Amino acid sequence: MSAQVLPQRAKIVIIGGGVGGASVAYHLAQLGERDVLLLDRSDLTSGSTFHSAGLVGQLRADPTLTKMNMHSVDLYRKLEMTETPASWRECGSIKIASTVERMEEIRRQIGWSKTFGLDLNEIGVKEIAELFPLINTEGIIGGCYMATDGQVDPSQLTHALASGARRGGVKIFTNTRVLQISAKNNQINSILTDKGEIECEIVVNCGGMFAAEIGRMLGVRIPIIPMSHQYLITENFLPDNSPMLPSLRDPDNLIYFRQEVKGLLMGGYERNSKAWQTSHDSFDAIPADFNAKLLNPDWDRFEDIAINAANRVPIMGEIGVKNFINGPEGFTPDNEFCLGETSVVGFYVAAGFCAHGIAGAGGIGKVVAEWIVAGEPTMDLWHMDIKRFASAYESPKFTLERVTENYEAYYDIHYPGEERESARGENTSPIYNWHKANHAVFGEKAAWERVNYYHDQAASNLDESNRPNGWVGKNWHPAVALEHFAARNTAGLFDESSFAKIEVSGLKSAQFLNSICANNVVRGIGRTIYTQALNSRGGIESDYTVTQVADDKFFIVTGTAFLNHDMGWLEKMCRQLGYNEIKIRDLSKDLACFGIWGPNARKILSKLTDTDLSNEAFTFMSSKILKIADIDVRATRITYVGELGWELYISRADALQVWSELIAAGEEFGLRPCGYRAIESLRLEKGYRAWAGEINSETNPYEAGLSFAVSLKKENFVGRAALLNANENLTRKLTALTLENIKDVPMGNEPILINNRVIGRVKSAGQGYTINKAIAYAYLPVENTKIGTKVDIEMFGIIKTATVQEEPLLDPQGLRIKS
Ligand SMILES: Cc1cc2nc3c(=O)[nH]c(=O)nc-3n(C[C@H](O)[C@H](O)[C@H](O)COP(=O)(O)OP(=O)(O)OC[C@H]3O[C@@H](n4cnc5c(N)ncnc54)[C@H](O)[C@@H]3O)c2cc1C
Repeated sequence: MSAQVLPQRAKIVIIGGGVGGASVAYHLAQLGERDVLLLDRSDLTSGSTFHSAGLVGQLRADPTLTKMNMHSVDLYRKLEMTETPASWRECGSIKIASTVERMEEIRRQIGWSKTFGLDLNEIGVKEIAELFPLINTEGIIGGCYMATDGQVDPSQLTHALASGARRGGVKIFTNTRVLQISAKNNQINSILTDKGEIECEIVVNCGGMFAAEIGRMLGVRIPIIPMSHQYLITENFLPDNSPMLPSLRDPDNLIYFRQEVKGLLMGGYERNSKAWQTSHDSFDAIPADFNAKLLNPDWDRFEDIAINAANRVPIMGEIGVKNFINGPEGFTPDNEFCLGETSVVGFYVAAGFCAHGIAGAGGIGKVVAEWIVAGEPTMDLWHMDIKRFASAYESPKFTLERVTENYEAYYDIHYPGEERESARGENTSPIYNWHKANHAVFGEKAAWERVNYYHDQAASNLDESNRPNGWVGKNWHPAVALEHFAARNTAGLFDESSFAKIEVSGLKSAQFLNSICANNVVRGIGRTIYTQALNSRGGIESDYTVTQVADDKFFIVTGTAFLNHDMGWLEKMCRQLGYNEIKIRDLSKDLACFGIWGPNARKILSKLTDTDLSNEAFTFMSSKILKIADIDVRATRITYVGELGWELYISRADALQVWSELIAAGEEFGLRPCGYRAIESLRLEKGYRAWAGEINSETNPYEAGLSFAVSLKKENFVGRAALLNANENLTRKLTALTLENIKDVPMGNEPILINNRVIGRVKSAGQGYTINKAIAYAYLPVENTKIGTKVDIEMFGIIKTATVQEEPLLDPQGLRIKS
């Protein structure tokens, strides 16, 4: 649009005219935003978009992404009716299983697709051959078919979205390169382009594989790496009158196909992936003129894919190749999109689409535009939120290792309890070496090494009788039950040093925290309060404990992975509510944290401290500094496992000594070191919620069964009005379900049915060793939550009966905790 003069001011500037930027622009216009500019350094679609294969599949491994892709399909269909259609072809798609495990995965997906009303059907080998006659059915066990999937022309789609955006008032400038982005007081205020400066409030980085480079203009790390991705297009060979073929995915052979004119397009995910312009030592350095360009074909790396393709679709071995595409695409370390507001106010990102950006674009544009307009996400987008990335991703090496592992595992089946092998050992507890020497098996969370459980290879007679059936059993370990019972019957010592720990201080810190927490968190020095921080819709943004440690100082503890998210929320609320003097400090790496829980916890701790630990002197939910071996330790009487005990916070330097003292003192009382897997089982029995598990920004405390943590006596706090309204119109409730056979453990997302009617889906699940049952939690319609109600849970196509139970499943009077 060269005739236009670049404005000197705009409210929102979108950087990047690929499918992502065009969709964000389209949806902003739909939401009524009129002062929006979209800039591209070259032409629209000249990044990754122009060379995309254009397959659009809706069903994904998680509910949110599936909903977003369903929106994409709806939108692409609608665009066909406009004067700028996107060339949407609803040809359907087939996914085939060449292994038993894949067939199980397909059955599981068919199950939870019902919870979306998606019409995904199991099909047999005969139907697969009918739908895709070119296929060699050897080794195929079965598959599934989705009639509403399709393919789209990526460039036409981008132009269709851009036209829609223009009609809504968005101004688009191509050949306009952003050179700098400026912020004042950590708030976006302008950008500099090669055509001039533009004052603005919001910048949306839709830079695709260039997003990390754009982020660096402001010192913001966006862990996206350009990876080479390849496909080929055959010569035309299909007869003129043949019906259009559905897309075909054969993940066991790492390949996908779709019809391209009268030939086939075939691509895949190689096991020997290749990053482009990024190394262990340096960030990406994409050439300044890399637009509308491709990489050189890399046949060697494609060979295995080509062999697999010719085996599955034999004509691939006979027909000539018309075109071979090697194009770079931005990948994130976990194959999920990178969306949302960064640490700089008004600086958003929507990039890193990991080779499903065409399928996702409609949904991405919608949720990001809503996020910008509302100032907060309008649905649970945690696992796509840029704030999920720990500071470890500032390292190119760490990022590249994880991106590589996940790229190569793109089509793999992922089993519960699986751990990543790359990029390990980044953050460790001060007790790490003790754990290693004592047979710890580690897991990773947000770049922290944490003990899953301890297992001495020399130990014999481990009880295998509770190993869950199917997938949940694969990474299960019998040591977890032993640790569970130690905490219930004697005592368990847990290293929770990875917890995120945040200090909030300043004269008005009490007032501030009470204005953003649903509970009253100001009840005196030494009191610890469990609370949620809510968004304006009453949804739970953060779930944490707050301890007042001085008149003007509070200590907040939250989950390992939520540091950036929860600290970001506190900072944002400070700004929005005008508490400019408040200081927010991250103490996560300064302090270790140990949990000592179980009936003998008091006896063990009493051996080490003079402080009176009796119920009268040290009440539940209170916190004191005590001395262990002359070391100052903050002890908070709290529990996440439902037992008597304390969390102990100690400086890193002193942590090993305190841990050793506890282990020695605990020997006579049956103290056992325990890991995170045991915590999971213990907390599920007690019904303790986990953010990003049972609760998130889409659920409110009333439906989540957390009304005890809401103080309506406070006249005002963020989300209060919406919460009151939600409480009056409660339609669903988080409900505890049990399955009689402890080995029948759901994985999450399974449909829950009554009389064949879907009423919900499993949110979280696990084993309760003390109650000897499998446990599941789900949001169910209030009318289906009567205690004793029987429901069906469809697991891998098989129906299991579960019963609605009263919560908590264990120790309803809390006698153990207060003993
Ligand atoms: C080979 C291949 C096959 C694929 N197949 C599929 C598929 O079948 N289905 C599917 O869903 N997805 C597929 N994808 C993925 C999909 O193509 C991408 O996810 C999507 O196109 C990315 O869009 P984007 O808008 O994020 O990035 P891009 O299209 O790369 O757009 C980014 C834009 O930012 C601009 N820009 C960068 N820096 C600046 C600056 N400083 N100033 C101004 N502008 C700037 C660039 O010029 C570029 O136009 C495939 C990708 C590849 C590589």
